[in-house]
Amino acid sequence: MTNAAPSPADNLRLIAEDLKTALANAGRAPDSVTITAVSKVHDAARILPALEAGHRVFGENRVQEALQKWPPLRDQFPDTELRLIGPLQTNKVKEAVGFFDVIETVDRPKLAQALATEMDKQQKTLGVLIQINTGDEPQKAGIAPAEADAFIAACRDDFGLNVQGLMCIPPIGEDPAPHFALLAKIAARHGLAQLSMGMSADCTIAAQLGATHVRIGTGIFGMRPTK
Ligand SMILES: *Cc1c(COP(=O)(O)O)cnc(C)c1O
Repeated sequence: MTNAAPSPADNLRLIAEDLKTALANAGRAPDSVTITAVSKVHDAARILPALEAGHRVFGENRVQEALQKWPPLRDQFPDTELRLIGPLQTNKVKEAVGFFDVIETVDRPKLAQALATEMDKQQKTLGVLIQINTGDEPQKAGIAPAEADAFIAACRDDFGLNVQGLMCIPPIGEDPAPHFALLAKIAARHGLAQLSMGMSADCTIAAQLGATHVRIGTGIFGMRPTK
């Protein structure tokens, strides 16, 4: 095994164990967190072993890449759930609605409106998450915490979206815990069940603070090849 890259299936098992321990420590049920396997940049050959091991929830951050890569995999494993975790441009909304199961990155009224119109057109009701810019970072996507309550209400009541929860990416180099706690607090006051938070480096912290979905790339598939 000296030259073999660690298998995604083995990594998934180990991460699931770590999450179980974290959940037990927090007094949460052992199955309350779903691992979203972030397969961006990795090719079908690298993704396949995770599917063959029974994993079914995956995250991609680019519409175009997912459309190129996933159709044959999904034909083989039709119960796969694909979640868009990257920024969505309005000119890609049609393809995104046609292809993904969940959009995690709703972050502005124009996008919310475009999604609502397109879902109506395609007669599809995708679940959506609203991305919150918990660190108020100017360069980062997401709605500012101060505007979150109004935007969540608008997504539900004005645009009629099926809002299932919230998502965040804490600032790099900061303790993520306060950001996870803030996300959980905003979700709680709107009765939103899903919390997509935590990545490879901090998924156990997120699990302790209420995550229902952790987005893990490197921890499962190894370092992403650079293009
Ligand atoms: C790439 C990505 C991840 C996965 O990050 P890792 O550190 O590789 O686990 C999670 N969330 C989002 C939004 C990403 O773009």
